[in-house]
Amino acid sequence: MSRLPAFPVAGGCACGAVRYVLKASPLGVYSCHCTECQSLTGSAFSLAMSVLRSDFEVTQGALSTWMRTADSGAKIPQRFCSTCGVRVFTEPPGGPHSVTLRPGTLDDTSWLHPVAAFWTRSAQAWVALPADTLTYETQPTDYAPVMKAWRDWTQG
Ligand SMILES: [Zn+2]
Ligand SMILES: [Zn+2]
Repeated sequence: MSRLPAFPVAGGCACGAVRYVLKASPLGVYSCHCTECQSLTGSAFSLAMSVLRSDFEVTQGALSTWMRTADSGAKIPQRFCSTCGVRVFTEPPGGPHSVTLRPGTLDDTSWLHPVAAFWTRSAQAWVALPADTLTYETQPTDYAPVMKAWRDWTQG
């Protein structure tokens, strides 16, 4: 039994100007507890969803771009709504075939299940992760276990 919704699914920014569709299952869903994500979200951590670029389409609205420079020096384009400022997705360095969707912008978030947590080293002290979460003190060097954990989860 699949824990996935029927695709396509839709989402958008807070003001409704930007809308998008996701046409197939993501590659993985995880949380990131790095201090940049805490700052970028104004919150405790970010949720991230890696999706194939070919499965993702912005159907409405104007996106602005802010080029974030990671600690590694990589430039990571952040695409956000020009009106309300909600960050909708980012473009991972070295990953032209995928984008990282900010999945809290989906219309239906009930199926989201982060199978991994990155940068637990800087997680806020009160954050408690489920026992089956893959945890990484910093950034994983190999995403294959994260993608496998996601596939396993979706098959229930
Ligand atoms: Zn907006
Ligand atoms: Zn992060």
